[in-house]
Amino acid sequence: MKCKACGALNDADASFCKGCGIKLEASECYQCGTPADSDALFCSKCGSKLGANASVQGKTCQSCGFINSAGTMYCHRCNQKIL
Ligand SMILES: [Zn+2]
Ligand SMILES: [Zn+2]
Ligand SMILES: [Zn+2]
Repeated sequence: MKCKACGALNDADASFCKGCGIKLEASECYQCGTPADSDALFCSKCGSKLGANASVQGKTCQSCGFINSAGTMYCHRCNQKIL
């Protein structure tokens, strides 16, 4: 992923920038859990929109805490019904 601070290209699973040492914010698809580049807008695996508003619009599973997309009836992780 590309560092937002200095622009250095780091490995996708890097936790800290090799260019400036800041912590890299790895984004993860809230639908399927695929790691995504921090500058990616859509999941490369399932096509879900990525981004900060995912958690705002999403529904948090009461059982496992997984954030599912709005309108989801059953949790994608544990399959419990979401209230
Ligand atoms: Zn950097
Ligand atoms: Zn996905
Ligand atoms: Zn769940």
